[in-house]
Amino acid sequence: MEKVLLITGSSRGIGAATALLAAGQGYRICINYLSDYASAEKICTQVRAMGAQAITVQADVSNEDEIIRLFARVDSELGRVTHLVNNAGTLSSACRVEDMSEFRLLKMMMTNVVGPMLCSKHALLRMLPAHGGSGGSIVNVSSVASRLGASNEYVDYAASKGALDSFTIGLSKEVAPEGVRVNAVRPGFIFTDFHALSGDASRVSKLEGALPMGRGGTAEEVAEAILWLLSDKASYATGTFIDLAGGR
Ligand code: NAP
Repeated sequence: MEKVLLITGSSRGIGAATALLAAGQGYRICINYLSDYASAEKICTQVRAMGAQAITVQADVSNEDEIIRLFARVDSELGRVTHLVNNAGTLSSACRVEDMSEFRLLKMMMTNVVGPMLCSKHALLRMLPAHGGSGGSIVNVSSVASRLGASNEYVDYAASKGALDSFTIGLSKEVAPEGVRVNAVRPGFIFTDFHALSGDASRVSKLEGALPMGRGGTAEEVAEAILWLLSDKASYATGTFIDLAGGR
């Protein structure tokens, strides 16, 4: 089976590390991004240099029309999606719930919850035998915040990842009989640009000393777990979570 992998939000950070690791594992790869064209093209060039077929597609995964356009590009240029990593996510500045605006909450939920659900829907329309597919594998990028709660900082973000965890469990059971596995990784403090969204780009460096392992994690360490769950090596794993949080 040809392996066609869509990684949402793969211009930078964990998604980019996943694309680079997947390049050596026989996948055709779609690098999706929101606005950072230069970073997406840079990763795509590196992926192609490793011998993998790859394209970049700009699309906001919080909008179904854009998701439909994204999957149509993948259909025509790489083939129907067999593997999906729901990685794109957002975060807002640290504050308490009484200070959170409706706009902030809607953006958080649309990007971190509705987006992965809609991307899964459109992937399933290509993976499920009832729609002409041959099965597939989905990995959701959640966060240990889903079980820690992120009080006084980002309860909305933690709740969005909690919803993604429930979605992972429910969908895994729904499509297991049809040959689609659905799993998730839950990173902790990882060195990426993500923390700048909270207003503190050096957050991991400041907090890593308090972790049991005494250090933050790398995007490459998360990518290893994503690629394992995605692959046939994890053929009996579905509804499974791998926490990558240095013991947190
Ligand atoms: P990052 O380095 O900031 O990269 C975020 C990626 O998502 C970028 O490629 C960005 O595209 C893309 N993106 C954002 N909103 C999007 C949208 N609406 N549609 C399409 N793409 C969108 O972040 P990261 O640290 O790699 O985070 C990746 C995932 O890991 C997120 O789901 C995050 O919640 C999760 N996570 C991260 C950490 C951590 O410590 N870093 C911990 C736990 C969980 P542009 O480049 O175009 O902006």
